[in-house]
Amino acid sequence: MKKFRADLHVHTVLSPCAEVEMIPPLIVQEALEHGIDIIAITDHNASANVAAVQKAALGSSLKVLAGIEVQSREDVHLLCLFEKNETLAIWQSAVDAALPDTQNNPEYFGEQFIVDESGEFIRSETRMLLTSTHFSIDDIFEQVNALGGLVIPAHVDRTSYGLFPTLGLLSSEWPILALEISRHLTPATAASAYPFIKGIPLIQSGDVHQLDQFLGTTIFTLAEPTLTEIKMALEGKDLRAVAIE
Ligand SMILES: [Zn+2]
Ligand SMILES: [Zn+2]
Repeated sequence: MKKFRADLHVHTVLSPCAEVEMIPPLIVQEALEHGIDIIAITDHNASANVAAVQKAALGSSLKVLAGIEVQSREDVHLLCLFEKNETLAIWQSAVDAALPDTQNNPEYFGEQFIVDESGEFIRSETRMLLTSTHFSIDDIFEQVNALGGLVIPAHVDRTSYGLFPTLGLLSSEWPILALEISRHLTPATAASAYPFIKGIPLIQSGDVHQLDQFLGTTIFTLAEPTLTEIKMALEGKDLRAVAIE
C-alpha cells in the first residue's frame, strides 16, 4: 500500500472561468511540482480536454483521472469521476442532452478552448457550459453510479454552487461516499460548521482554475492510483484510506 497525494478538481481552458495557462503540459508540470500523484480533470459540464491532459502526463508519475463537474438543476456542483474515458463519454452524451441550447458569450463568460496535449488550440466549444443541466442531484447520483462512476458534491461549503449554502441539507437518499470541502475549511472546522456530516469521508481540492491553486492536501492510501481503489479508500475497505493533511 502506498500514499498518493491528490487534487481531484482541476479545470482546463475548456472552462470559461479558467485561466489561459490551464493547458495540459503546464497542468502536469505544476501538479508534479506540488508533489501531487493523482489529479482529476473536471471541467464545467464538459470533458473534451481530459484525454489531452492524460497524453501530456504519459511517461510521468502523474495519474490523470477522467472527470467532469456537472451543475444540477438545483445549481449545485458535483464532481463525476470515471475509471475509463469511454464511460465518461457515455455520461458526457447525457450531459450534452441535458444542457440548454444556449450559445456561450466569450466576452462575458470567457473562452472555452479544446486543445491537444501540447496545449495547441483545436476548436472552441460554442455551447454555454457555465449553466445548469436539467438533471436533479438524484438523477446525477443514479445515472453516474449506474455507469460505475463516483459522485462527490463539490466545494460543499462554498456560497456559489456549494451544496450546503445552496440547499442547506444533505439528503439521506443520496448514496454519498465523500464530500469535497474547499480550501477555506479544515476537517475540524467542517465538522463544527456542519455537524451532520459526521462519519462521511472528506476530500479537499483546489478547484484549480489557475496554476497556483493546486492544493494536494488529500492523501489516499491505495495499492495503485485508480478510481476503484479511491472508492475502496472512501469506503474504508481493505486498509485503503483517505485523510486531509
Ligand atoms: Zn464548482
Ligand atoms: Zn470547479
